[in-house]
Amino acid sequence: MQSAYLDYAATTPTDSEVLAAMMPYFTEVFGNPSSVYSFAAKSRKAIDTARGQVARALNAEPDEIFFTGSGTEADNWALKGTMERLRSKGDHLITTKIEHHAILHTAEYLEKVEGFHVTYLPVDSDGRVRMEDLEAAMTDKTVLVSVMFANNEVGTIQPIGEIGSLCRRRGVLFHTDAVQAAAQLDIDVKALNIDMLSLSAHKMYGPKGVGAFYLRRGLRLENFVHGGGQEKGLRASTENLAGIVGLGVAIERLKAHLPKEKARLCALRDRLIDGVLSKIPDTKLNGARGDERLPNNTNFSFIGIEGETLLLDLDSKGISASTGSACSSASLEPSHVLLALGLSHEMAHGSLRMTLGRGTTGEQVDYVLNVLPEIVARRRSMSPLWEDFLKRRGEK
Ligand SMILES: *Cc1c(COP(=O)(O)O)cnc(C)c1O
Repeated sequence: MQSAYLDYAATTPTDSEVLAAMMPYFTEVFGNPSSVYSFAAKSRKAIDTARGQVARALNAEPDEIFFTGSGTEADNWALKGTMERLRSKGDHLITTKIEHHAILHTAEYLEKVEGFHVTYLPVDSDGRVRMEDLEAAMTDKTVLVSVMFANNEVGTIQPIGEIGSLCRRRGVLFHTDAVQAAAQLDIDVKALNIDMLSLSAHKMYGPKGVGAFYLRRGLRLENFVHGGGQEKGLRASTENLAGIVGLGVAIERLKAHLPKEKARLCALRDRLIDGVLSKIPDTKLNGARGDERLPNNTNFSFIGIEGETLLLDLDSKGISASTGSACSSASLEPSHVLLALGLSHEMAHGSLRMTLGRGTTGEQVDYVLNVLPEIVARRRSMSPLWEDFLKRRGEK
């Protein structure tokens, strides 16, 4: 049977060269980076190298990069660390309705438990934040704006440069969750006026369980993990040595391949989008088109069916896809992102996300275009929602 993994937004395989670079740090070079003997200096050096690799990829300085246990952890740190540190200056945080739960649930915690005020910005029907809404939401108590670089469900890329310059002008700190964007877009933290940024290795062909946090020089946050002196004492814990080495090599290799891979993915993405929309009637593409969409993202709503049932049918054909974010797909709540784009509950339930990556081929896209129309037609033929839709349209 043919197969296709189309869930690169959920996680990516670790690049074999990344894995090879990591291996010695489990066995031969295992010294604790905090130890004084020269054997441990090799471990310290490896971490310095990785810090330099991450910094170069973002146009940052090595001392602006901190390693964390995940993208989620970096997001938590940005929000909690800033709001707590700047409490005397202001208590207002601005974020958006379409953030990953790593941001949304942290913001809700800050609101409900810590008593901060949070504004959740709406987005337009493509999923973009409007600058006028952001500007209108800012008050003299606003200390932090957190807007994701690109959305993990619908792939919409935000006007990060504009947001960065507005925040800089207004003296408000700006954090961006770049976990999805980093794998596919060029990011220059200086040019974009970004103060803080979150990354995760496993979304960019590195290992799971390691992330990075960029904090612009001169800014100070509350410590995130209290303990030893690692990461300048701000995020204590013996370093995930092999993971950090993997993150550094992954991001360096990614940047080298980016221009070519981006063009290849955009072509495959558009072939999939155009194919689905032309072969399957009453289907909507969720999110923006062209340059405002991540090169690897597709997200559709099929009128009259539940996305969950499609996943099972696709799985039986060897195709791994998703309805939205992996974290919420176990709950049967419709996606908060699709609702924020203005979709009805019914349309939000009928969504299917297919995200492409290094292993995706034209044959796989054609395979999906071959099997998906039949799957949708069969599910619709059994669906009371589809019956209702046809009646409403006057076809029954
Ligand atoms: C995956 C993801 C995260 C969480 O990263 P982890 O390293 O899995 O904790 C955060 N934000 C976005 C946009 C993501 O896609």
